Amino acid sequence: MSARAQIGVTGLAVMGRNLARNFARHGYTVAVHNRSYAKTASLIADHGSDGDFIPSESMADFVASLAQPRKVVIMVKAGAPTDAVIAELVPLLDEGDIVIDAGNAHFPDTIRREAALKEVGLHFVGTGVSGGEEGALNGPSIMPGGSAESYQWLGPILEDISAKVDGVPCCTYVGPNGAGHFVKMVHNGIEYADMQLIAEAYDLLKQGLGATAPEIGEIFAEWNKGDLESFLIEITADVLQHTDAETGKPFVDIILDRAEQKGTGRWTVQNALDLGVPITGIAEATFARALSGSVPQRTAAAGVLVGDAGAWEVTDREAFIEDVRLALYASKVVAYSQGFDQIAAASEEFGWNIDRGAMARIWRGGCIIRARFLNRITEAYERDENLALLLADPYFTEKVGEGVSAWRRIVSLAALNGVPTPAFASSLSYYDGVRAERLPANLIQAQRDFFGAHTYQRVDKPGVFHTEWSLDRSETQES
Ligand code: NAP
Repeated sequence: MSARAQIGVTGLAVMGRNLARNFARHGYTVAVHNRSYAKTASLIADHGSDGDFIPSESMADFVASLAQPRKVVIMVKAGAPTDAVIAELVPLLDEGDIVIDAGNAHFPDTIRREAALKEVGLHFVGTGVSGGEEGALNGPSIMPGGSAESYQWLGPILEDISAKVDGVPCCTYVGPNGAGHFVKMVHNGIEYADMQLIAEAYDLLKQGLGATAPEIGEIFAEWNKGDLESFLIEITADVLQHTDAETGKPFVDIILDRAEQKGTGRWTVQNALDLGVPITGIAEATFARALSGSVPQRTAAAGVLVGDAGAWEVTDREAFIEDVRLALYASKVVAYSQGFDQIAAASEEFGWNIDRGAMARIWRGGCIIRARFLNRITEAYERDENLALLLADPYFTEKVGEGVSAWRRIVSLAALNGVPTPAFASSLSYYDGVRAERLPANLIQAQRDFFGAHTYQRVDKPGVFHTEWSLDRSETQES
């Protein structure tokens, strides 16, 4: 077999098959392989005309069909299957070859795998790929980590098949080892927040206006023409206007209200707790899914817990819709601001040197959170690459500032009328917390010193102090 494939894909379920087709459509010779040959055969039978594929039944033949340095994309179920494929693949490779894990790996696994493969002279690139099956085929957003050297070989190919916005590829080098999968994880966390915020806006419009799903769909379609323009708003408008063929009812009204999750939101929140970064919007969105699925608790509470809630009296329909829009926009900026804080903290912790503006740029197309306002985020980080808080960038300060009173009205009304808005409310609370000149953490420090001698600092002089609470309450300076 001649070693002429420029790239290989092993794992040909929906994502791998579409990624392989995307490479082929861009003129690359693509080696393809799957654990069970049936998927390989069906790819060639159904889409062989997409380009130049070299199918192999065995991993050995697959590797032998690749030109050196070999570039092998693994697109299998994340976790143990990825390790199994790596174990089979590695003995067949030569020094300098590049193994690319394009699945949704947890970034600590990527750090571990990169270190192990480096030991045997191989490059390991953990890359985030977003956009689902449609994106994989027509242009995803791609977030590759690994060595800068491997990107020199791989970058041009990945940039070629990625989505383009204004001619700019939605793919760039993210940083060493686990950086690519980390950024993909936070992307998914932001996606959770974005979806929850949209769901809360839908609920408010439904309850506040008594509007039907198609009517709310029209509102979202209108919003999609302005600052909120994004893939998620667009599909929300579409979904809300869809009718269930069987019942003739609005489609959303026949869907059970229990949201599921695959786990990337949970990873994002777990990591934020480790790093000590408040990503309250993402966390509330993740917990909101968990609450929706808490069936025994919801059953126990329904019709039993006292609501004592008011009734909606919306007198100015247009003003209410605008208030919800402004609250949604402001809360969304908070979610992104928090997500970018998490990226900055991890970049510092792991020495990744991630360019946050570039991350916003590669999320403009191809991925699920693609949105018009990501341009504004890139501009904010171009103005100041060390920006400590996205919300404090002048553009966002002004934009969010314009909607603060609307945001307060909406969160207050929701609370008064008993409508849960965990993401809207926690985002507003974060906004007030982060801008507060003085938080009540002073009291917490005093309590901690009282029961655990945990010490405190003073506002009027440097040093670390402790008060002898159970003795004479004298103060000692600890350092
Ligand atoms: P998947 O359902 O996650 O995985 C199925 C593939 O994994 C099949 O090719 C299967 O081979 C292979 N596989 C499973 N266990 C294996 C093992 N022990 N050894 C070798 N191969 C094994 O496929 P997918 O939905 O296409 O997703 C692939 C990856 O992309 C996943 O990591 C996923 O999280 C990620 N991803 C998915 C999406 C999406 O929208 N679906 C979006 C972004 C990222 P057989 O055919 O032989 O069973």
